[in-house]
Amino acid sequence: MLGYLAGLLPFVFCGIVGAAAVAELLKPCRPTLQPVTGRWSTNLALFGFQFGLQKLLVPLSALVAALGAQKAETGLLTFLGVPAAAGMVAGILLLDVWKYWEHRLMHAVPALWRLHRVHHSDVEIDFTTSERHHPLEVMLSIAGLFAVIYLLGIPPEAVLLYSLIATAVVVLSHANIEVPQWLDGALRNIVVTPAFHVVHHYADRRETDTNFALVITLWDRIFGSLHRENATVKGNRQVLGIEDFREPRDNRLHRVLLQPFLSTGTNKVPESGSNDKPRLV
Ligand SMILES: [Zn+2]
Repeated sequence: MLGYLAGLLPFVFCGIVGAAAVAELLKPCRPTLQPVTGRWSTNLALFGFQFGLQKLLVPLSALVAALGAQKAETGLLTFLGVPAAAGMVAGILLLDVWKYWEHRLMHAVPALWRLHRVHHSDVEIDFTTSERHHPLEVMLSIAGLFAVIYLLGIPPEAVLLYSLIATAVVVLSHANIEVPQWLDGALRNIVVTPAFHVVHHYADRRETDTNFALVITLWDRIFGSLHRENATVKGNRQVLGIEDFREPRDNRLHRVLLQPFLSTGTNKVPESGSNDKPRLV
């Protein structure tokens, strides 16, 4: 089963990315305000970094951590003697709640926000935004996931199944696609949808700090971070990105890689007419 799930992962990723790209082309939800070439070259280059890093960090990859924990018979789920099927479900839920809290930490801790804001500084969002993360954030995320999987003893099958589900949901939730309101309303009770997640990319920081869930929306309800308006179509008219990084040149790769080292104040809601620009610290 492990080999089967591992083999499926690249096909699921390529299939979902291809489907999202075609859907965005045929029926975009928001009009494109800037040429996509500048944004896409940066986003896809960051995807290359992410892919390369994960390959370099194979010994620390999630699956190796899970196999290590299984071999060593360590971790909370092993200690509690949870049966295999329940371990699969528990493992998937634990991984998703960890990703929720990791995301909240990325927003709450100033040093981590400097890394994570690279993801948020995209002035429009589409399926390429899902892979736009600073390489240092990717490394931290891999290390955190490794520790969680090992300490909790998440089964390798759960790790791979969660990777498949999360890959699909993350690409689709960033895609610039229109989901019928009735379908969005039903889906968002369980899973993150494009309209649910776009709120998290609003330029207003008070709204950025809501809807943190990666896959299951339940965590935002339980932990009190659900967006107050339950936005659907309204979200499509909002300004996206970060005010300090709105110029087309801010999206060039070298400037995006430098973003964590730029001081921008606190990314509070900007005063109208403010010309404050980031400076190196
Ligand atoms: Zn975020």
